[in-house]
Amino acid sequence: MTNVYLVGAGCGDAGLITVKGKNAIEKADVLIYDYLANPELLAYAKPDAERIYVGKQAGNHAMEQQDINQLIVRKAQEGSTVTRLKGGDPYVFGRGGEEARDLREAGIVFEVVPGITSAIGGLAYAGIPITHRGVATSFHVITGHRKDEGSLDYSLYAKLSGTLVFLMGMGHLGDIAGGLMREGMSAELPVAVIHRASTPRQKTVVGTLDSIESDVKKAGLTPPGLIVVGEVVRRREELNFFEEKPLFGKTVVVTRARSQSSSLSEAIRGLGGEALEAPMIGIEKMNTEELETCIDNLERYSHILFSSKNAVQIFFEALHGLGLDTRKLGNTRIAAVGRETGKCLEGYGIMADLVPETYIGEELMQILIPELDSTSKVLLPRSADARPFLVDAIGKICEVREIKTYKTVRTDQGEGLAEALAAGSIDYVTFACGSTVRNFMGCLSEEQKASLPDVKMISIGPVTSKVMNEHGLSIYREAEEHTIEGMLEVIVHDR
Ligand code: SAH
Repeated sequence: MTNVYLVGAGCGDAGLITVKGKNAIEKADVLIYDYLANPELLAYAKPDAERIYVGKQAGNHAMEQQDINQLIVRKAQEGSTVTRLKGGDPYVFGRGGEEARDLREAGIVFEVVPGITSAIGGLAYAGIPITHRGVATSFHVITGHRKDEGSLDYSLYAKLSGTLVFLMGMGHLGDIAGGLMREGMSAELPVAVIHRASTPRQKTVVGTLDSIESDVKKAGLTPPGLIVVGEVVRRREELNFFEEKPLFGKTVVVTRARSQSSSLSEAIRGLGGEALEAPMIGIEKMNTEELETCIDNLERYSHILFSSKNAVQIFFEALHGLGLDTRKLGNTRIAAVGRETGKCLEGYGIMADLVPETYIGEELMQILIPELDSTSKVLLPRSADARPFLVDAIGKICEVREIKTYKTVRTDQGEGLAEALAAGSIDYVTFACGSTVRNFMGCLSEEQKASLPDVKMISIGPVTSKVMNEHGLSIYREAEEHTIEGMLEVIVHDR
């Protein structure tokens, strides 16, 4: 059995992970990721998976390579399934080979899951095909950063007619362009530099070998960046699909409440925008022993109600932990509140008997009541923050056993929010209900609150607007249709 997965996370856009890579994230007990791997991918991990950031931004290494290798080995030796997430492809200047070698030496079984490298995928997002019939018949991916191996051999590269892509070259852009021209490449040859390719912060500067250094300086581009040299750069005029998306370059904060799905974030990202979720809500398991005892005696229950994905995951982890499987649920009727919960159950091979569409307990009760009589016994493994309504309502009919299997905790403000607030780079904040207003305001410092007036606040409807007013937030627009789509509509048409 595989202990360690070395996974290419793709070059930025979280959707560029492979199916195999996503599976490896879902399986992991420990996730070790670096700065080029999109942190959104961590959302696929089990709620209690350990997440370790090992950095590796140029000049700012959170951890040395040797220590990272040792960490992976140690975690695997402790018996954990480890997924090592690396930006792009693990073997394209990713030092994946060294990590794999150390694993092999320690006798640990590993698998490599290739990823979409920035050298190819990053170019595509800037509208640049790495080869093009009649324009470039080969390509060469070159490191611009050579620590101990001497300087680059420009006389060799200048003779190549294919597309040249330099990675880790932002600090040496002048040397690279100068070296290629000195060795005979035309000063007029087109060059593109792409900053943070395939992310909402992508920026592309196009120039020539002669001009590119000053063009990039003028535009203020910083690493990470891709340097593309070759005629294919001209194709960008007709192939630039990404930077033309309606929300490209816009940053939207999606404020979250407990157990709220992130469909708005997905839609924003689909339209090319950056979605920052805040605050981040994590979960903490509770009462595992109590749950295990109940699972041992599962036959006693006529019904199990699952009201969230987390509840399902925690239940099945406990079931599997006891060496049991879905057969244990053979005679039990199963209800799932909300479509997402139902889908999650399907992942475990269970088609729920009852699935109300909304998260509203009252609606569940309506379809549940005809099922229950005084001999029924209902198991309700769920969040400690849930309303007492269901327990009270079911308790009037039959026995109900509630187990608080987890509680939600606010982990932090969310990846990037503090940074974006400080930089003043947020365009919109969206509020989908009153509790998102309270959660969001509760996670901000006074200083951060003071920076809010420059941001456009969007409300889903009058009830939310009222709460926003109570918190002193000025509303830029209220959605005409009081839905997530209605809020998106406002942003897309705001010019
Ligand atoms: N394994 C990675 C490359 C690691 S080397 C891959 O396959 O993509 C790190 C360099 O990759 C950075 O210095 C930068 O040149 C490039 N890079 C990686 N992701 C990038 C992105 N999204 N935008 C621009 N450059 C990127």
